[in-house]
Amino acid sequence: MTRAGRVVQVQFVLTAMLIYLAMAIDLPPWAIKAIDKIRRGFVWRGRKEAKGGHCLIAWPKVCRAKELGGLGISDLKSLCIALRVRWPWLKKSEPNKPWASLPLQVSKDAECLLSLAIITEIGDGANTLFWKDKWLAGKSIQDLAPNLYVLVPKGRARKHTVKTALDETKWTEDIQGEIPVQALMEYLELWDMLEDISVQEGIPDRHIWRLSASADRLARRGLPHPDHCLLCDQEEENIQHLLIGCVFARQFWYDILHSIGLAALAPQSDVSSFDDWWDKAVLTVSEDARKGLNSLIILGAWTIWKHRNDCVFNGATPRLSTALNLAREEALLWSLAGARGLSPIHSS
Ligand SMILES: [Zn+2]
Repeated sequence: MTRAGRVVQVQFVLTAMLIYLAMAIDLPPWAIKAIDKIRRGFVWRGRKEAKGGHCLIAWPKVCRAKELGGLGISDLKSLCIALRVRWPWLKKSEPNKPWASLPLQVSKDAECLLSLAIITEIGDGANTLFWKDKWLAGKSIQDLAPNLYVLVPKGRARKHTVKTALDETKWTEDIQGEIPVQALMEYLELWDMLEDISVQEGIPDRHIWRLSASADRLARRGLPHPDHCLLCDQEEENIQHLLIGCVFARQFWYDILHSIGLAALAPQSDVSSFDDWWDKAVLTVSEDARKGLNSLIILGAWTIWKHRNDCVFNGATPRLSTALNLAREEALLWSLAGARGLSPIHSS
């Protein structure tokens, strides 16, 4: 069998075989590693095992989407998380199905993805968690009042719905122990915010999945999509255009690279592949600077994507300064979380 044939086999047989299992249980890391070894061996050698020398491209790159320069084989860890998120998502979106009341546990990763992916419009508040779900102006109370949230026992935070919590302001009973000043201020602000909220009896809560594919992928699946790029209002949107072809993206990259003295690396108008540009850019800097530049490029792409979603789904106006500020905020958060080499951007 040719290698191309084996790639198809791996994606549509070896990987597909796992789907039911991965939906039912959280695959442990050792299992994912072992399965990946088999998948890798089969792609490169047509047998169970392959040594480093047989592998022509690093496996993480093989596991990217074809639009991003990979071979379109699913990344197993991400696939497993996505399949597990399905349960809590269905619980939210189809609460009347019998399995919605099963006590399903998902991993922390899946919980994080879900909380990133969903915002809620409140109806009667019965299917929305008061403390954890994003229902108050697109944010969760956990995010809005972090100091107050730590005073709420975990079990209670998972229990109270908006409906039960707002009833006779029962949410206040969830807060336990002594309240420090910071938390007290959050408490007062929260009190003010909640004063204007009233639940609407008989109307179910609406949960909205925010992370959607770009226009070309939506179009391929026959789903509603913007028919041109919202950032430049000129060309058809696809992922390459969005990340690098778009005038907006090019200006964005220029500004952000300029802030760390690497303006020369900014993509020119003849660059059409994000992946190629990235590969080449990284080779032009010293070994020490590579990690930082990699983090920066990932962060930049993430920022453009977020800004684009904000325009598509929340009606925001595309604005370079907004995107750049967003990148700076994110850079600060990421560097706090340990990403190397991002400090010059958020302080610029
Ligand atoms: Zn554009």
